[in-house]
Amino acid sequence: MTLLLNGFELAKQCRLELAEKIKKLPRRPKLAVLLIGNDPASAVYVKNKEKAANEVGIQSEIHRFDTISQNDLLALIHKLNTDDTVDGILVQLPLPAGLDEKEILQAINPEKDVDGFHPVNLGKLMIGENTPVACTPKGCMKLIHQAKEDLTGLNAVVIGRSVIVGKPMAQLLLRENCTVTMAHSKTRNLPELCRHADILIAAIGKPKTVKADWIKENAIVIDVGINRLENGKLCGDVDFDDCFDKCAAITPVPKGVGPMTIAMLLENTVEAYCSK
Ligand code: NDP
Repeated sequence: MTLLLNGFELAKQCRLELAEKIKKLPRRPKLAVLLIGNDPASAVYVKNKEKAANEVGIQSEIHRFDTISQNDLLALIHKLNTDDTVDGILVQLPLPAGLDEKEILQAINPEKDVDGFHPVNLGKLMIGENTPVACTPKGCMKLIHQAKEDLTGLNAVVIGRSVIVGKPMAQLLLRENCTVTMAHSKTRNLPELCRHADILIAAIGKPKTVKADWIKENAIVIDVGINRLENGKLCGDVDFDDCFDKCAAITPVPKGVGPMTIAMLLENTVEAYCSK
């Protein structure tokens, strides 16, 4: 029988555990979030993060700007970097045109980089050091562990090679002794490659790309994709109905990876506080 990996419930459990931990801390951890521009989706993401933070007892400080210059944004990040009451800093992406995203992300103190996007933290992940890990891949690992504790020797295929999902995801699987293959838009014969995967991660951004005949019998399938269909409904990169029966475990969309991403942001903020 297929196990439905319910990220909504797991995230709730993670938040409860964090709330208990935060109650025992001498002060509330603080997360600073920088929201620039008028992207409605970004505004919703930030609102959700703020709500989730406050619910577990993390203080959130939202800095909103319709427009801001590169220099002023760098100056604000510097101020937050040196503010001892701020534990985590998150710049909501994408940034509006005209701002240099790379320079902005690199300006964040790596110890406060709760998104895990700073090159220093990505490098540390690569060499196996303890470091803040990007929230989505970190959440995916927790979901995978709901299905299987020891991943040693399993074949994992990660479709997608972005810096925020695919690449850190592959590193985390490698760290747990999986044999990892990274696939992307130029990969040849992707369905055949996927058929060897004991763990399949889809982070493509194209609705219902992965079909049942791509799936190895009893694979663990993690669907990172969030796509909006013409009828307004959300769906993942995996054709859930087609694939469900063939999997040992699968995440739904919504209520799969998405809620875990936010829970891991909160966890990273608490970890940043505790590692001071
Ligand atoms: P990117 O667009 O940065 O990366 C997509 C990757 O998919 C690229 O590596 C691309 O290959 C690859 N790709 C595109 N088309 C194909 C194809 N037909 N076959 C194989 N590979 C393909 O996206 P992100 O990594 O940022 O996000 C991926 C998805 O995950 C999106 O739907 C996004 O909304 C969602 N997401 C969900 C989160 C959550 O919390 N649930 C968090 C972050 C993202 P190439 O490099 O060759 O172009």
